[in-house]
Amino acid sequence: MTEIQFKHVTKIFGKKVEAVKDLSFIIEDGEYVSLIGPSGCGKTTTLRLLAGTVLPTRGKIFFDNEEVEKLPIQKRNLGFVFQHFAIFPHMNVWENIAYGPTVKGKRKSEIEELVEHSLSSVQMKKRAESFPSELSAPELQKVSLARVIAAEAKILLLDEPLGALDQKIREEFQFFLRDFVKKQGLTAIHVTHDQAEALSISDKVIVLNKGQLIQMGTPEDLIFSPTNLFTSFFVGESDFIEGYILDDSTRFSKVRVGLESVYVQNAGISKGERVVIAIRREFFDVKKPNKNNENFLTGKIISDKFLGLFRRVKVLLKNQQIIEAKIHAKSPIKFKENETVHVIIDPSRTRCFEFPKEGIQKSLEM
Ligand code: ADP
Ligand code: MG
Repeated sequence: MTEIQFKHVTKIFGKKVEAVKDLSFIIEDGEYVSLIGPSGCGKTTTLRLLAGTVLPTRGKIFFDNEEVEKLPIQKRNLGFVFQHFAIFPHMNVWENIAYGPTVKGKRKSEIEELVEHSLSSVQMKKRAESFPSELSAPELQKVSLARVIAAEAKILLLDEPLGALDQKIREEFQFFLRDFVKKQGLTAIHVTHDQAEALSISDKVIVLNKGQLIQMGTPEDLIFSPTNLFTSFFVGESDFIEGYILDDSTRFSKVRVGLESVYVQNAGISKGERVVIAIRREFFDVKKPNKNNENFLTGKIISDKFLGLFRRVKVLLKNQQIIEAKIHAKSPIKFKENETVHVIIDPSRTRCFEFPKEGIQKSLEM
């Protein structure tokens, strides 16, 4: 139940490690936001800035328009859940949950009420007497969440909270966690290296790279409307095709790719400019040449691998660029190596960006 705002926050460790650079964003009251980005991009530092265990070198952080530095730690109403369970092994579930309110000096009746409420919020009432050693990994994480509720936290900070769970259980727990956060009206910030998790659990996702905010948006925004090459590259799987704008006068821009041309989403880039077309591997199709095919580039099959529900079809385009489609495997029939094919592009499913001055490779550096 708190709005969080970062205003131009920079954190420099030592003399020159810029872990977070000029970070600005707003997380609305009750929102579930994930932070994703390559290792070392500043996710944990951002979380620690929120927790108050590191202070900004420059810039300010606000909780509900109050500057955090001026708020005493106990008034920040923070709860934490990490990959490693922060549960006391010698106390049973009930005692673990009662620990926070007890330390705060709450009255016995109030503590009992808080613990009962917290236990039911995670559906663990029946396990009140159990010891941590008797609980499964998801149950231990539920105890961590119950402790957050008993401590009357309003902001929940999660750093790889599902990292210790098996894949199948992890997916189930994602739904539980989101539902829990929403029912309790918490504002949640969740750090994960697993982008599928971030996309399925969050209201919004922040993509960080080298300490900078690259894009903040809904999961749909990141998949369907990436605003830059890095997001296209890092979130999901995209391929890039280089070209030059031939015509920018209609809803779709015509782009020259080698000796061919295709229509792509008009990005307001002028005629003659060098561009990069970004297209998700799931969003294009590879077909045998046919006069009815529209908006395609010609290529030759490098490989066609069957991966159960998907096929990965690698194609060498005429302009010598390689792209790889991820196509639903509707039948076991495969393309043959060297076969000529049409790579069919749906213009509304493409994004077109100005060619980065530093080159594509450099702009994707992590
Ligand atoms: P992430 O969680 O995204 O992997 P971190 O926030 O942990 O990234 O780290 C960001 C950068 O800051 C890294 O280059 C890391 O080495 C550096 N860093 C983090 N904490 C410290 C610290 N206490 N002292 C010095 N450098 C640090
Ligand atoms: Mg980290």
